[in-house]
Amino acid sequence: MNSRLLLVGDCFYEKSNDMANKKAEDIEIRMCGIEPESIVDGPGFRYVLFVQGCPHHCHGCHNPESWDPKAGYDITLGEIMAQIKENDQLRGVTFSGGEPFEQVPALLELARMVKAEGLSLMSYSGYTLEELQERNDPETDELLGLIDVLVDGRYMEDERNLTLLYRGSENQRLIDMRKTRETGKVELFHSDFDDEIDII
Ligand code: SF4
Repeated sequence: MNSRLLLVGDCFYEKSNDMANKKAEDIEIRMCGIEPESIVDGPGFRYVLFVQGCPHHCHGCHNPESWDPKAGYDITLGEIMAQIKENDQLRGVTFSGGEPFEQVPALLELARMVKAEGLSLMSYSGYTLEELQERNDPETDELLGLIDVLVDGRYMEDERNLTLLYRGSENQRLIDMRKTRETGKVELFHSDFDDEIDII
């Protein structure tokens, strides 16, 4: 990535000021891989972005090649949206990783475009919702405000449970972000069947 990375503790992400002069479609995301039509990363057919870079280094992570923020490749938001618009079977987009919340400015732009297409948005994060809120970062808050479902928390090998819907360990929460915004407290999907989360 040519743009500068902002170091905040363990965090690294493109500083939004560096994107100010770019058209939204020319903004780049550092990517590990893309699954254009997944049925396992949220309800319905979903376009899944596995972003590059993760500071959490969870023991037992299935995707350690996504950890190094300098590995992977760049892709523009314009290229991503062209692929998404090509497929009228898609119900939504899922941000996975890697750690999506290490690339907030670019993913916020993408989230705006995805929602403008009427698609649902799901995201994974190794951070908890509370940790993200404690950043007190307006862009992180805006991105959280566009997400319909958040799976939060690091993967913990000793809490591994393969029967859980869309997540790998018991500590990870399947958060109904729409309801959470309405009530002001963390609202979970309690069922491990698709029906409950089928709202998005
Ligand atoms: S947060 Fe996800 S990608 Fe990052 S180390 Fe943990 S399991 Fe792997």
